[in-house]
Parts: sequence; structure tokens; C-alpha cells
Amino acid sequence: MSSLAVPEIPEFDYLIVGGGAAGLSLAYHIAREPRLAGKKVLLIESEAKDRNDRTWSFWTDEPTAFDGIVAHEWRKIAFRSPGFERVFDLGRYRYKTINGLDYYRFVWRALADNPQFTFVRGTVKSLDNVAHRARARTTAGEFRGHYAFDSRPPNLEQLKQPEKHRYLLQHFVGWEIETDADVFDPTTVEFMDFRGEQQHEARFMYVLPFSARKALVEYTLFSETTLPKEEYEAAIREYLSGTLGLTAYHVRAEEVGAIPMTDHPLPARAGQHVINLGTRGGRAKPSTGYAFKRIQQHSARLVAALASTGHPPADATGDKWQFRLFDTLLLDIMQRRGETTRDIFRQLFERNPVERIFRFLDETTSWADNLRVMNSVAPGPFMHSIAQVLRDRPGRRKTS
Ligand SMILES: Cc1cc2nc3c(=O)[nH]c(=O)nc-3n(C[C@H](O)[C@H](O)[C@H](O)COP(=O)(O)OP(=O)(O)OC[C@H]3O[C@@H](n4cnc5c(N)ncnc54)[C@H](O)[C@@H]3O)c2cc1C
Repeated sequence: MSSLAVPEIPEFDYLIVGGGAAGLSLAYHIAREPRLAGKKVLLIESEAKDRNDRTWSFWTDEPTAFDGIVAHEWRKIAFRSPGFERVFDLGRYRYKTINGLDYYRFVWRALADNPQFTFVRGTVKSLDNVAHRARARTTAGEFRGHYAFDSRPPNLEQLKQPEKHRYLLQHFVGWEIETDADVFDPTTVEFMDFRGEQQHEARFMYVLPFSARKALVEYTLFSETTLPKEEYEAAIREYLSGTLGLTAYHVRAEEVGAIPMTDHPLPARAGQHVINLGTRGGRAKPSTGYAFKRIQQHSARLVAALASTGHPPADATGDKWQFRLFDTLLLDIMQRRGETTRDIFRQLFERNPVERIFRFLDETTSWADNLRVMNSVAPGPFMHSIAQVLRDRPGRRKTS
């Protein structure tokens, strides 16, 4: 008598959903941890990831796992706003940039000969907790794992609760340009140049100079809605001609993006067996949009716990409530009176050493330093936003 074969559902120790910044970071950290060498990992990614779809920049005062693929690093940053401009020496910090495509290729190469990893090209349709497992239903079939790590972007449009939380974006268009003459100072990142019109929002130029003749020039906003593309482009043109006096240049590449800046809860877990990563897991800092370094720290934290206990840590991120509150206050001000953002950043840069600002944004400052930072900015807008937080109601711009 022949029995009907029941198709087996492939089982893994870990499923990683999405092979972008966070998914590949976690895979890379797992591969480097000898105590996890026996674990079978499935990485499911829907895209080819064969384009340089973004560059990641971050500051750091210590070596990183990706120093070998850093495209450029700087020791100085400039902050500019009407009435205050300063170039800061970063001391022991460096500002670094990594090209997305270099990162994808670097991690794939590192994992290519490692038999613990399996790659599947497919789209995850659902991810649930089932019978002591995580189950992924995908266009390439069904898979199970003891734990799943999910980096699909959160659908904030659908989840939005504007009466409870604040929803802004860090949105930008950047041009990588080349010039025929020396124009840029390749030693100094133009970190925030707020000298342009604010239009009741936070609007600044961000420039990464790779050489005297090559730079990424980005028009960046912290606000609720994106602009028509021509408006970013017009602002870049205006900066190139008006501020830099440039008439001739070649646009070699373009970077377009919108990163959520929100205090909407983005939980670190979605049940017993599903852990959220990256933007989905709240790793984009709400008040700045910076995420890359937080993603690396999150991977290291998860892998350390998996290696020592067999499970993700009970507190998956280690986020501290006081920094969450500072982020919410700043988001509230940005949403209520966006034009004030420039003054707040000006006061921060005018009255604090840059290393303290970095540590504050990295959420590693002591209480004493937090007080120094808070004392360096005008209290009015913050008091108003504290009242909004206490009322559990986001501030709104008053329309006249
Ligand atoms: C243009 C741009 C520039 C940025 N620059 C910086 C910067 O300079 N510094 C910084 O700190 N942060 C930066 N960020 C913010 C943040 O670091 C990035 O958004 C980062 O890529 C977030 O990592 P992630 O893994 O959450 O998302 P992603 O890197 O987008 O990875 C998610 C992956 O999941 C895949 N996926 C999605 N849905 C599915 C599905 N259903 N099934 C399978 N796979 C799926 C996607 O194809 C993607 O590869 C930038 C963001 C953008 C958009």
C-alpha cells in the first residue's frame, strides 16, 4: 500500500524577513558569532538589491564591522543658520558613509560559503506565531522557524492615529554632482545648513563632499508631507548657484527618500516568536531619522542574547524612556511650529560641544548631560509641548 507523501514545511532556527540594512546586519552578526554556528538561517528578500538605492551615513567614535567598505569619512562637520555658523572638529568621532550596494555585496560575499544560510527570493505575505514557531507564508512557499526577525517596512499610513501620535518624515532629494573646478571642501560635511527659507518647516541642505569636485547635495526637510519633486530640485539648484556660485555641474546620480519620524509605537516584538527589526522595530530615531548605527547595535544585542540564552533579550532594544520623551517633545514642536526647529538646532550647536550632541542623539548621555542639553535650548516651546504630552494630545499648528 502506498501512502500519500505529505509535503514537508521547511524548518529553520531563524527566519529573517527582508535583506536590507537590518536583515543583512542581523545575518552578518549571526555569521560572526561562533556560538550560533550550528543555527540554520533562512533569509527571504523580495528584491534583487542590485542598485545603490541609498547611502548610509553616521557618526561613531569606535571601529565598526563595516569599516572595510566605508566610502568616505570626515573629521569635521559644519552647522550653519542665519546669525550662527561654525565648523566643528569631531575629536575622536568620525562621520562615515557607506554605499548601500557595497553593503549588500559585502554581506552576501561574507555569507556566500556559509552553509548555515539559505536565501530565498520571495515576498512574505504573512508572518505569524503558530505552535511554538514562527510561520512565514511567502510567494516562494511556506517556511517555519523557531524565531522570525521581520524588517518589512511598517505600514504607518494604515496604522496612523493622528489624535494620539505625531507623524513627520525626514524627506529629501539628493544629487551627486561633479564639477569642472574645485568647489567643495572635502574635509567638512555640511551637516545642516539652515540658511534657506524655512516656510514654517525645518528645511536644510546636507552636503557630503567626496572630493573638491564631487559631492552629494541633499535638500532635506523634517515635516508632515513630501513636496513635488521639482521643489527639492529647485532648492538644490538655488543652493548650487546662490550659495556655492556654481553654474556648471553634472548630476551623476540621485538619492530620494522619506524616513518616518514618529512617536507611534513601533514594538520590538510581534508575539512570542516574531521580533521586529529596522524601521519596523523603531530603529529610526524619531527626532532625526538616523537608523543605521541603531540597527547595528540592535543586531549585536539580539545576537549576544541568542548566543548566551538561546532567546532574544526580554528587553529587545534597551531604549530608555527619557530619550523617547525628548524625541516626542521635539516631534511635537516640529509638528506644531516647524520653523522653531532651526532655532533649537542652532542653540544646541552654539551651546554644546559636538561630542555631547552626538552622545545625546546616541542616547548615551548621563542625566547631568541631559540637563545641560535641555538648559541649552529656550524652554518656551518645550514647556508647551510638555503640556501637550501630559494631555496625551499631539500639538497642531494653529491655522489663522
Ligand atoms: C534613501 C535613504 C537614505 C537613508 N540614509 C540614512 C543615513 O544616511 N543614515 C541613517 O542612519 N539612516 C538612513 N536612512 C534610514 C535607514 O537607515 C534606512 O531606511 C534603512 O535602510 C532601514 O533599514 P531596514 O532594514 O529597516 O529597511 P530596508 O533597508 O528598506 O530593508 C527592508 C527590506 O525588506 C524587503 N522587503 C520589504 N517587504 C518585503 C516582503 N513582504 N517580503 C520580503 N522582503 C521584503 C525590502 O525589499 C528591503 O530590502 C536612509 C533611508 C533612506 C530611504
